[in-house]
Amino acid sequence: MASAFEKLTKILTLEREQGCRDRAVIGGLERFLPLWHREAREETEDPRQVQLIEEIAALLQGYGAKEQEERERIVTEVLDKLAERAPQAPRAPSVPRAREVPGLDLDAPVTRLTGISTAYARRLARLGVTTIQDLLYLVPRRYDDFSALKTINKLVYGEEVTIVGTVWDTKVRETRSGGTVVTTVLSDATGTIQATWFNQPYLARQLRPGRQIVISGRVDMYLGRLTFQSPSWEPLEKELIHTARLVPVYPLTKGLSARWLRRLMKRTVDHWAPRVPEHLPDHVREREGLLDLPTALRQIHFPDNWEMVREARRRLSFDEFLLIQLGVLRQRRNWQKQVGRPMTMDEGLLRAFLDTLPFTLTEAQRRALREILGDLQRSRPMSRLLQGDVGSGKTVVAAAAMLMAVANGYQAVLMAPTEILAEQHYRNVSDLFRNLAPALSEFAVPTIRLLIGSLPRSEKERVHEEIATGEVDIVVGTHALIQEGVSFKDLGFAVIDEQHRFGVTQRAALRQKGYFPHVLVMSATPIPRTLALTVYGDLDISVIDELPPGRQEIKTKWLSPRERERAYSFVRSQIEKGRQAFIICPLIEESEKIETRAAVAEYERLQREIFPDLRLGLLHGRMKAGKKEEIMGQFYRGELDILVSTPVVEVGIDVPNATVMLIEGADRFGLAQLHQFRGRVGRGEHPSYCLLLADSPGTEAEERLKIIESTQDGFQLAEEDLKMRGPGEFFGTRQSGLPDLKVAKLSDVAILERARAEALEIFRRDPDLEAPEHALLAQKVEEFWRGEGDLS
Ligand code: ADP
Ligand code: MG
Repeated sequence: MASAFEKLTKILTLEREQGCRDRAVIGGLERFLPLWHREAREETEDPRQVQLIEEIAALLQGYGAKEQEERERIVTEVLDKLAERAPQAPRAPSVPRAREVPGLDLDAPVTRLTGISTAYARRLARLGVTTIQDLLYLVPRRYDDFSALKTINKLVYGEEVTIVGTVWDTKVRETRSGGTVVTTVLSDATGTIQATWFNQPYLARQLRPGRQIVISGRVDMYLGRLTFQSPSWEPLEKELIHTARLVPVYPLTKGLSARWLRRLMKRTVDHWAPRVPEHLPDHVREREGLLDLPTALRQIHFPDNWEMVREARRRLSFDEFLLIQLGVLRQRRNWQKQVGRPMTMDEGLLRAFLDTLPFTLTEAQRRALREILGDLQRSRPMSRLLQGDVGSGKTVVAAAAMLMAVANGYQAVLMAPTEILAEQHYRNVSDLFRNLAPALSEFAVPTIRLLIGSLPRSEKERVHEEIATGEVDIVVGTHALIQEGVSFKDLGFAVIDEQHRFGVTQRAALRQKGYFPHVLVMSATPIPRTLALTVYGDLDISVIDELPPGRQEIKTKWLSPRERERAYSFVRSQIEKGRQAFIICPLIEESEKIETRAAVAEYERLQREIFPDLRLGLLHGRMKAGKKEEIMGQFYRGELDILVSTPVVEVGIDVPNATVMLIEGADRFGLAQLHQFRGRVGRGEHPSYCLLLADSPGTEAEERLKIIESTQDGFQLAEEDLKMRGPGEFFGTRQSGLPDLKVAKLSDVAILERARAEALEIFRRDPDLEAPEHALLAQKVEEFWRGEGDLS
């Protein structure tokens, strides 16, 4: 019962983790709310539950427009309500359980454990823990190795270490760009060292002189002296040093102390880990040389040594990858089991279309098109990912395929993540077909319509009508297309732009409406192949790995802070030539509110002090969608010279006249993200530039900046990024519609490949996981994917 509650718990937990930016679900919580409400109400008749549903819905009303603190309050309140909902077990059962079946009760709420009151359960729920099993899988963020504690005089540059020290002095200062730096001097008997944190001003209150703390992080170097840059830290608990060697450090939340959680975990692991049933078939476990599950769980929490940490991680990561793989393989099969719509190719029409284009397709475009057209001719629905760097020409490939679908008497849709992008696609696709008319005799040029939320109601209704009767052949729009009450006469082909925001859920939505069209998803985010196989393991992949000839490289320059003035005069000189510029403000992890405030200040400063005579616009994540579209529209039409934007905003528009991308705080961004920003310029005929400003990059950031300066190849950058940062940051798994990974890192490519191989083998022999040896595994797959909604 109540998977809707579980789903909401997950979403809100994520929302909280992300700092309540209203980004946990695509389109914001409010858009999700009616769907959730309906789903939840369908699940229950119980009046108490119904009341709870209504209370929650009321609380979340207007969420998008609230301030962040208010949002936090609301999320906490709703999570508390959700946690309370969990049935209460008698606190102290007087009779011991008659039979203990392995695995039994792992699903029981944590309140079943001694010492966990509802208040504590509520706090645990904030960490995503509601059941005993969740608790077992709440893995340490890291371990403090008190056997290898270093003294300050022994620190070596580049090492990952843990030290214990006393706070000597703490200072806060402001940076030129409006951020803050907290600097603490720490000492132990052997020396002193400095640690700095950016934009966490509240640390100054916590790092009081005299306080003993534990610091973990990489030893860095600044101006020739060793330092720590944003290390993790905790108050010292003295007894740890004596009682343990590798001490687990868990994620914490208000009201839960590190100590309390560690003790709870010890008790829980001691009792429950041995009772966790092994779901991996023995031969798989042996072939892969993996720890058994109880051992892995015990060792991940209280490891004997670093070797065991690695082995435990390897086992648990393998599990997650395997479950993902089995899930996506099944998803793919379910999709492809549907009877598709085999189409026939009209070679003449295709040639006519290609002949009308003002350019010839690149080899890579031709290859991708062939693969796509091949899928269209098959009787199982296509599910293909078309990857190609920004500007590689994906649209024309999709358009050619849509034309084929239409020639076969089907309708096609093209979906974009924002209205502006939808409008742009609409224009582009219309243009592509415009010249086709004279070339055609018997075949009418496809009728194309734009369908977006902001159309006047009457027009929307007319388009709906035309879609239903089949008068329209191609509809271009936002994802509202499949979420609202649009019904197609005969939808045969759906193209979804920007896969990382669409994908699994959109396909599910299509399916729920009873459509099984061929689906092509397009992504400009270059994803390394191994990763693509996992994240999109249910998709076939075509890659356009070549840019059309004559594309100019975007000159990229990393400037020192002293060269900021130069950067500004360069921006000005471009605008004097009639061009436009983007300025991206620094990423501030802290909160969207602070980030917004900083962006507003920066915008005002630029407008007042640097570019008083130019037309500047500001874009930030806390603006209403309509306002964002308006500003982007102004920039698009050339009514603004400079668009100042926070990084959270995806400036997903094609403005050929924009030639400068200036990125502040460039050291804070990953390579893939820098590359995406850079891709916003160089879209027209003019030479284009990307200027990177970084205040005090660490060594790793410096390396990133050098790489981005030296290459334009998105795939190479993605590989580098993956190596350096790990894909969690590169690519939020949530966005991809995958279940959360608790242990595995997508950069563990070797484990991932083994898991994929084993999954393929299991799937080949027993695709429905019906063999007795797969019974537990089948159950695991089910559990793992529950709430993701696409596995039925
Ligand atoms: P993206 O892959 O980023 O979606 P688009 O499809 O928007 O790229 O194409 C970018 C631009 O390149 C468009 O103006 C398009 O008309 C043009 N284009 C596409 N293919 C070619 C080609 N083979 N030769 C020259 N220009 C092309
Ligand atoms: Mg595009």
